[in-house]
Order: sequence, then structure tokens, then C-alpha cells
Amino acid sequence: MDHFELRNGVLHAEGVPLTRIAEQAGTPIYVYSTATIERHVRVFREALAGIDDPWIAFAVKANPNKAVLATLAKAGLGADVVSGGELRRALSAGIPAAKIVFSGVGKTAEEMALGLKEGIGQFNLESLEEAETLSEVAAALGIAAKVAFRINPDVDAGTHSKISTGRADDKFGIPYDRALAAYARARTLPGLDPQGVAVHIGSQLTDLAPSRAAFMRVGELIAALRAQGHQIATADLGGGLGVPYNPAVPAPPLPEAYGAMVREVTQGWDVQLIFEPGRVIVGNAGVMLTRVIRVKEGKTYPFVVVDAGMNDLLRPSLYDAWHDIRAVEPTGDTLVANVVGPICETGDTFARARTMDQVKAGDLVAFMTAGAYGATMANTYNSRGLVPEAIVSGEEWAIVRDRQPIEALIEADRLPPWL
Ligand SMILES: *Cc1c(COP(=O)(O)O)cnc(C)c1O
Repeated sequence: MDHFELRNGVLHAEGVPLTRIAEQAGTPIYVYSTATIERHVRVFREALAGIDDPWIAFAVKANPNKAVLATLAKAGLGADVVSGGELRRALSAGIPAAKIVFSGVGKTAEEMALGLKEGIGQFNLESLEEAETLSEVAAALGIAAKVAFRINPDVDAGTHSKISTGRADDKFGIPYDRALAAYARARTLPGLDPQGVAVHIGSQLTDLAPSRAAFMRVGELIAALRAQGHQIATADLGGGLGVPYNPAVPAPPLPEAYGAMVREVTQGWDVQLIFEPGRVIVGNAGVMLTRVIRVKEGKTYPFVVVDAGMNDLLRPSLYDAWHDIRAVEPTGDTLVANVVGPICETGDTFARARTMDQVKAGDLVAFMTAGAYGATMANTYNSRGLVPEAIVSGEEWAIVRDRQPIEALIEADRLPPWL
């Protein structure tokens, strides 16, 4: 459920008509709903009822906007970060270091040092090579790094290949059958305090079975590690729960079903469970608002050309993702169209042969469920400034990232001395 609804014929974000935001801030622009973000946090927490002290670390890469992170910090969430930049953003938004988990296969020594000095809660290590580097950095600083190994459980999450992370040949984690040796080695390394096991098999998961299989392996590993004398205090189950994008396909399992599965599988583990939800917290909490530049005649279908491009919303081009596309002031009529942006790439196509609200030049349209992996993947291709973001709370709204002026892009370039 979200808080984007028609009121008096106009699509609103909570109490604010999207027409007002477009008039005052221009398009394209992302608009987030505070009430929706807060609701999703509540629903996710409720789904975990009965689990003792769950550590919910929002996957910052899904939406790193500082206002979004501050909203989540206020709701008591921690953060899962995958770079020094995300770590600094999370801290600057008020997320306590102790609630931060640092994931990713390519952490540099500098990023490790930053995490150690800030006192983050856990490093999720993805290789023994990485453990050795962290050991050196931590020992030099005289700090014990709390670590977990991310296990590659070799399960296929059944999602889009580019967001599957738990198959044996994916780059993530250490192979399950080498895990015991990795912990044994880590135990001998100075500066490391192995405290947990971690797993994350992919994103936009629409079936609980692969997660269940992965979690079962984590449970087996915890038992095997304890049998060898390791003390395991945390188990990080990652993120990945899907959200409904297309009302015409079956919806992914609800957080409640996920929570029930987790309770069942993790019974008796005697650890603090860590969760890293991203999309399920913010996906439905954002839309991308764009204006129709013109409707161009096509051979089979007309092309609705909007002022947002694949540089502003990459998901359809990158993952064949489906976003519901709605007129902000629907007339009740529909058309079948290809919806495209102004970028000079055929990949700059948001939808093909889509039955959608009738629109004409100048009309506003909203790309729904754009709060996760939307603005954060925006880039400046075709010399377009980075897309701005706004957040609504009740009747109020505010710009929370400025539209990047083209001058800023041009000024960042330098000419060499010979020109
Ligand atoms: C991306 C990612 C997540 C979040 O995935 P969602 O599908 O957005 O929930 C969680 N953990 C790790 C390690 C990730 O890379």
C-alpha cells in the first residue's frame, strides 16, 4: 500500500498534488512519500514480531537520499552500506555507526579504516583475501573488527539474472564448502572478531523457497561452526524481498509470509538476526514525475516522448523492469503506446505497446514504484543534469536534492594546457 492516490481527479502524494510539485520544481523529478516509508518500516517490523531484537539495516544503495535516510534513522533503522560514500551518507543522516553493516566484494583498505574508526557494527566479508586485508588494517589501528563471512549458498533466487547474487558463479560471497576453513583461518588473524554468518541471494525475490534454502544452509553452518568452537552471535539474512510493480502479475510474498518463514527456519539459532531490506522499504514510496514532450506518430503504436530518460530511471533499460505509468490527471480514456525518453539510444524505452491513460503533449505522468534503485542510479548521459528529488509529508513538501544545473556539469570538465 502507498500514499499516492487520486483526489479530485489529480494524483497526489499524501496531501500534495503532483501538479503543484511539477509546476514549482519542474520535471523530471522524483517524489517520495514519508508516510509510505514509515508504513513500510512498521509493516516489516510487525512481520518480524516474535524475533528477539532484530537488527534492521536498510540497504542504502536502494535509496541513499539523505532525507530518506534521516526518515529511516528516525524510525530506528540501521544501514547496510556498500561503499565508503554510503557509510558517510548514513552517518550524516544520523544512523548510528553501531547499527551499520558494511557489505560488498571490493572494500578498499581506506574504506575499511573509515568503518573501523567510526565503529561500525559488522563487516560482511566476501573472501579470505578481504579478511586478510581487514586484519592488517584493523591490527594497525589497534581495533578488533567485528566480522561475518558472506556465504554463497549456490541457490538460484529465480529473479532477473543481473540481480541474482547467490549462484556459485556469481561474484558474491565465499563458497559454502570453503566456509569452515575461512572461519578457522580468520580466527588466527589479528584484528578480526568473527561474530556472524551472512547471506544475500538477490533482489526482487518473488518466491520464498530460494531464501528458505539459503537460510537453511546458514543454520547448518552455524551449527558446524559452533561444533568447532566458534562463537556465533549474529546471522545476517540479507534483503531481497520483492515489491509489486505490475498489477497484472502475481504479487511477491508479503513481509508477513517472509517473517513467518524466517521464524520457522531460524528457530533455536540463538543469534541476533540482521535484515537488510532495501526495495521493500522504499520501492512503493516513490514516483518519478515527468512531462510529455510530444506524442510522435509510430508505425504500429504512437510514441509518448517524456522529458525523463533512461539516465533518470535506468531500471527498464538495465533489467527490463516494468513500471506502472499513470497520468497525473487521467481523463478516463486510454491509449496503447510506446513510452520513450529523449536519449539517443533505443534502450531509452520505458514501455512498449503499453495500454495506459490517454495523454497528450504537456500532460504530466507518474512512473510508479520508483523509490528504489531509481534516482540513485541516475547519471548525466546526453549532458542532462542529475534529476532532483522531493519528499512529501502530509500537506508539506520539500526539495531534498536540487536539479543539477548543466553549468555544474560543464564546469567540472577541465581543458588540458594545450587547448
Ligand atoms: C542490494 C542489497 C540488499 C538489498 O536488496 P533489496 O532487494 O533492495 O532488498 C541487501 N543486502 C545486500 C548485501 C545487497 O547487496
